[in-house]
Amino acid sequence: MELWYTENHTEEARFSIKIDRQLVSLQSDFQRIDVFESREFGRILTLDGYLMVTEKDEFIYHDMITHVAMATNPDIRKVLVIGGGDGGAVRELLRYKTIAHIDMVEIDEEVVKVCKEYLPVTACGLTDERVHLYFEDGLKYVRTQEGKYDLIIVDSTDPFGPGEGLFTKEFYGNCYRALNDKGILVNQHESMYYSSYAASMKRAHQRIKGTFPIAKIYQAHIPTYPSGHWLFGFASKKFNPIKDLDADKWNQLGLKTRYYNTDLQVGAFAIPNYIKEQLESD
Ligand code: SAM
Repeated sequence: MELWYTENHTEEARFSIKIDRQLVSLQSDFQRIDVFESREFGRILTLDGYLMVTEKDEFIYHDMITHVAMATNPDIRKVLVIGGGDGGAVRELLRYKTIAHIDMVEIDEEVVKVCKEYLPVTACGLTDERVHLYFEDGLKYVRTQEGKYDLIIVDSTDPFGPGEGLFTKEFYGNCYRALNDKGILVNQHESMYYSSYAASMKRAHQRIKGTFPIAKIYQAHIPTYPSGHWLFGFASKKFNPIKDLDADKWNQLGLKTRYYNTDLQVGAFAIPNYIKEQLESD
């Protein structure tokens, strides 16, 4: 008998991966957590049935959610990661010797436990002494922070369920306050190809634009996410990710990355017209 994992990308379009076996399935206080083993994509983490990470293409997402900000401001020292329980964003951040302190606020401790056991490829840095884990709601956590961080990365689930609050005006306002005057906010911004999230992502972008003087969208190709075309938000009090990109300094670090490079950073901000039109429409 063949086993297939299937995610409905819309009511009328599905994406399937052939599965060898299921490694774990449990219900936490927040969501259902599953890990599958597949030949094509390696291990796969899903939350409430939605694909979060595969061993084969996680490098694209984690390169793009971290290195764009790090190449724009090489002096980033203190970082807050909200969500990100698989550890992939933290793993990439730890490659920078200049980063002294990472706070990671993940609502669901069970995700971290499962990833430490079944996805060491991404979770390998979560025991590093520079990493401080807090198991609480990121929305509540940022309410009490002020001028503390150089970078906030919002590596959240979709804009419903536990992740819903991480797309609100209140949250973006609190992130602005939690950042210092050089602060950068990077958030996963879903895809706008299918109509399901297009309206909520347009709203999220407008909220960020209303909060930060610089607010841009950039893109990456992530094969296992809906439509394969994924967006990220870059917002900042000071830095422009194209004009202030310090390519020479980043390249001198000698970090080996499989997706990200500094030429690609410039191109990633050249977004397709259909997305520009949706973001700018009334
Ligand atoms: N790469 C993924 C994607 O975009 O599909 C995101 C993966 S990461 C596992 C997302 C994490 O965000 C989950 O572990 C989830 O528990 C966490 N999360 C969701 N809502 C949260 C909240 N309000 N505060 C903190 N963490 C949250």
